[in-house]
Amino acid sequence: MGFEPVIGLEVHAQLLTASKLFCGCPAKFGGEPNTQVCPVCLGMPGTLPVLNAKAVDYAVKMALAVGCKVNEKSVFARKNYFYPDLPKGYQISQYNEPLAVAGHLDIETTAGTKRIGITRIHMEEDAGKLLHDAAGGAGYSFVDLNRAGTPLIEIVTEPDIRSPDEAVAYLKSLREILVYLGICDGNMEEGSFRCDANVSVRPAGAEKFGTRAELKNINSFKFVKDAIAYEIERQIGVNENGGLVKQETRLFDSVKGVTVSMRSKEEAHDYRYFPEPDLPPLIVDAAHVEKLKTTLPELPQAKRERFVSNYGIPAYDAGVLTSSKDLAGYYEEAVKLGAEPKTASNWVMGTVLMLLNEKGIDVKDSPVKPPAVAKIIEMVKAGVVSSTAAKEVFAEMFSTGKAPEEIVKSKGLTQLSNETDIAAMIDAVIKANPDNLAKYKSGKDKLFGFFVGEVMKAAKGKANPAVVNRILKEKLSS
Ligand code: ADP
Ligand code: MG
Ligand code: ZN
Repeated sequence: MGFEPVIGLEVHAQLLTASKLFCGCPAKFGGEPNTQVCPVCLGMPGTLPVLNAKAVDYAVKMALAVGCKVNEKSVFARKNYFYPDLPKGYQISQYNEPLAVAGHLDIETTAGTKRIGITRIHMEEDAGKLLHDAAGGAGYSFVDLNRAGTPLIEIVTEPDIRSPDEAVAYLKSLREILVYLGICDGNMEEGSFRCDANVSVRPAGAEKFGTRAELKNINSFKFVKDAIAYEIERQIGVNENGGLVKQETRLFDSVKGVTVSMRSKEEAHDYRYFPEPDLPPLIVDAAHVEKLKTTLPELPQAKRERFVSNYGIPAYDAGVLTSSKDLAGYYEEAVKLGAEPKTASNWVMGTVLMLLNEKGIDVKDSPVKPPAVAKIIEMVKAGVVSSTAAKEVFAEMFSTGKAPEEIVKSKGLTQLSNETDIAAMIDAVIKANPDNLAKYKSGKDKLFGFFVGEVMKAAKGKANPAVVNRILKEKLSS
């Protein structure tokens, strides 16, 4: 009997606000432990939380970007649990009245576009971090509360996902949107974008979902894929051996490539949720939502479609070029300066991205700016340099920041396109090779290549091949 996997994802995204969700401490990653804390985020008695308005705006923007309904009224709630990195003994989150509900995200799968339902988006604060066996403290655990109170949104999907690949496609697309909106840096290693995957299996064709296991805090796309794939196989194995999958929380061991049981899954009632008495309900009125809607940038999907229809480039190119807003902007600027769209796409996806990746440079810091890309494309088109020489010029621009014309001149890369000069070289070559000329005229067409080679040799490789070919053909057949 075949089994069908059912997957639902919960993503925590850290919002790029300057300060934390309920106090003025910096929300920056990476400070010395416990330097970004105050009585509020340390959970001292008698302190009161004050909601960060910017964080609310960011959360609303995300809600709008994935088509959620933004609730005019939402309610913060206390989620009670004891953990050493949670000084208050509870986390301020949202529970049965979240900020936003009922959105969706369309992903590309091998079987076409598929819509993944988004159940809810709510706001919550992050906990601190435990450091185990840190330097100077082997056998001990330390706590760093810099992260305690930083703003998160949690984005929960419907159980609509059916394979590890769909899960990864959803996550990549979601992350892209967050980064486009400028509300999250999407850094998975630093935990700004992390994912819990809920996985179950059911007999193919069955209506009822199986019992799910929750895989916690997976911090790379590859691990998400591997963890879910492993978990599906594990649960199928349990079923086939007549066992029952337990509802539990499991951790992915990325070294061994397996998931291991961490604890039995807590139920909502274990958390004793109740409305946060220190905060009034959050009211986001329709006018404010409308105002935020006007600030949304063009989103990746819309940009991709526009690139294909406006510039006539393949969907694949559009996908690569819009993978970041900066890269898309870079490309578009070159095109607006006159570069032919597909040629510009080849340059940006090829030479530009290769050099940037090689040097680990972000596109917005690229030493070669779009005007230089447009210029070099123009030079190739005008026959000033060959496309091979152009690549060399480009690499040189990249390392020296010099203008393309300057490099072409100093490296002597100017292509010879002058027809009179080329014609003179051709005449000389023909004159010097009467035997081959006779053979060519008697039908040895292959000797054309010989003549091209001789002309190129005479021109030290710098003659424009298109011009050489054309004039040579004329002269040989006359
Ligand atoms: P919790 O915090 O208890 O995990 P949430 O409602 O935040 O609950 O998240 C539940 C997630 O699990 C959702 O993404 C949902 O789609 C998914 N889910 C629920 N039931 C199943 C199931 N049987 N199999 C797989 N995923 C499931
Ligand atoms: Mg969960
Ligand atoms: Zn603080």
